[in-house]
Amino acid sequence: MKAVCWQGANNVQVETVPDPKILNPRDAIVKVTTTAICGSDLHLYNGFNPTMQKGDILGHEFMGEIVELGSAVRNGNANGKTLSIGEALLHDSKEGRGWLR
Ligand SMILES: [Zn+2]
Repeated sequence: MKAVCWQGANNVQVETVPDPKILNPRDAIVKVTTTAICGSDLHLYNGFNPTMQKGDILGHEFMGEIVELGSAVRNGNANGKTLSIGEALLHDSKEGRGWLR
């Protein structure tokens, strides 16, 4: 998949990175259809976060389609919400997460 990767302060590039995998039973993999840069990304972009490493993937606000779910959320319950493969999902930092139907 393609991802925006941090290369160093004030330097990001779109790179091909490995496809994501379910690592935690509460994980979801979302095929991103729309995304944007958030103001908090600017702190990472500018190099203010000392934990950033070359190649780290940026981005946390997006819309997309759920393509895979961990065992704890597969057609089940996550924080009072039901998740299903094929469902549209919206994630933003203000709400933390959201679902569109
Ligand atoms: Zn944000």
